[in-house]
Amino acid sequence: MNVVRHVIGGDEVDSLGRRRFESVNPWTQEPWAEVALGEQQDADRAVEAARRAFDEGPWPRMGTAERRAILHRFADLILEHAAEFALADTSDMGKPLSDMLEQDVPRAAHNFRFFADHAALSTGELFPMDSGHHAYEQFDPAGVVAAISPWNFPLMLESWKVAPALAWGNTVVLKPAEESPTSASLLGRLGLEAGLPPGVLNVLHGFGPDGAGEALTTHPQVDRVTFTGESATGRAVAAAAASHLAPVSLELGGKGASIVFADADLDHAVSWSVRAAFSNAGQVCLAGSRLFVEAPVYDEFVERLVAAAESLVLGDPADPATDVGPLSSRQHHAKVTSYLDDVPLVGGKVLTGGRRDGWFVAPTVLVGLAADARPCREEIFGPIVPVLPFEDEDEAVRLANDSPFGLNAMCFTTNLSRGHRVARRLRAGTVWVNCFFVRDLRAPFGGVGDSGVGREGGRYSREFFTEPKAVVMEIDR
Ligand code: NAD
Repeated sequence: MNVVRHVIGGDEVDSLGRRRFESVNPWTQEPWAEVALGEQQDADRAVEAARRAFDEGPWPRMGTAERRAILHRFADLILEHAAEFALADTSDMGKPLSDMLEQDVPRAAHNFRFFADHAALSTGELFPMDSGHHAYEQFDPAGVVAAISPWNFPLMLESWKVAPALAWGNTVVLKPAEESPTSASLLGRLGLEAGLPPGVLNVLHGFGPDGAGEALTTHPQVDRVTFTGESATGRAVAAAAASHLAPVSLELGGKGASIVFADADLDHAVSWSVRAAFSNAGQVCLAGSRLFVEAPVYDEFVERLVAAAESLVLGDPADPATDVGPLSSRQHHAKVTSYLDDVPLVGGKVLTGGRRDGWFVAPTVLVGLAADARPCREEIFGPIVPVLPFEDEDEAVRLANDSPFGLNAMCFTTNLSRGHRVARRLRAGTVWVNCFFVRDLRAPFGGVGDSGVGREGGRYSREFFTEPKAVVMEIDR
């Protein structure tokens, strides 16, 4: 069996208490890796290594060109090790290997290149003052960053946090999800090979509450906490970080509304809706998991959606023909299928999909539900999408905005003015018009309401991962 260890201070190490836990492959339902179980003493060791590397090491003091070159080398190594990363995430949490090779791995490498370039090319403002002084801004590294990530896009989301933190001169302790530990240790190892000084990127494995995660968020030597995960966990993380006033960035759950107007290009809307609802087996924070379709095209849209859902291939995630793999774990499968049990009780109907053998749920289309039914309001995080009709634009916007979440929303229309108008009215961190999942890493990314606190991406990442400083200087006496 594979053994996955922490990466602390430049070494791959077991936990001080020698304890381990298992990572279970959702396709075989068998353990495939033994993972070091980090506890308080291991978190202390990891934070101390990061602290020392920050306070005494070269990384925060290095010229941006040198840091940029190392991070580009890191990106090259990620691409060279694409097959290992793909196997790691697929075996840990069941996503199709082809998605890893075509999307997650290239995007992880791109995250490093983008933030390396962004930091190296960044400029600051100078403020001339009438008093005979001038002031200017500079962006100092913030210190030790705790990066806590979820299991649904393991490598991709680890790199989304680690890359900007490093690019801005910080040191990091990365705590990957316990369900998907393997790619993080590989990332830690490759970072050293790329030339990161020891202690700059540390990887700590373990659980959240009363475990490695909580030990990091409460640690007084941690200067920033960047967290992606469930909204309820986000509340606990924010409360813990408040104890030592560490700023938090929280990227949390979603219930993305997708509005399809009668004037939309229906082929386009169906194909994006299928991707939005079912890719990664629906285990996507940004999933289009509430579909609202204008009444005149509702029946036709639903018919096409069902046909497209039924054409998706379920199976072994390592098989290139597979579109939808198993859900990530037995507990998660139980949670997702509990929503299916609810459907007939609240007057709904399963048009296609449902439970399958193993930890599978087939792409599922629900109709006949009221907008306040549980499957329409809560984040299911599985391949299940309710479709509801609406009469006009005002109703569509009201339905979409009636949610505690506000991560993202989609709108399909060929009416240009309506596209802009609806985008303006939707309460969400990202609105996609006639598309889905397309990202520009310079743009703000984050959520409204229960979907998060703060923004990352481009200059928003700079604000979070640095201490902006004002320097005021007398120039006329
Ligand atoms: P989770 O909240 O259960 O766990 C996320 C991470 O937090 C894990 O590493 C876990 O060990 C750690 N953790 C748990 N409790 C903790 C605590 N008390 N203190 C510190 N750390 C703790 O989330 P998950 O099930 O791994 O991920 C799925 C969730 O993530 C979904 O809600 C999804 O929408 C969300 N998500 C959001 C985004 C986004 O960008 N907004 C992206 C991906 C996933």
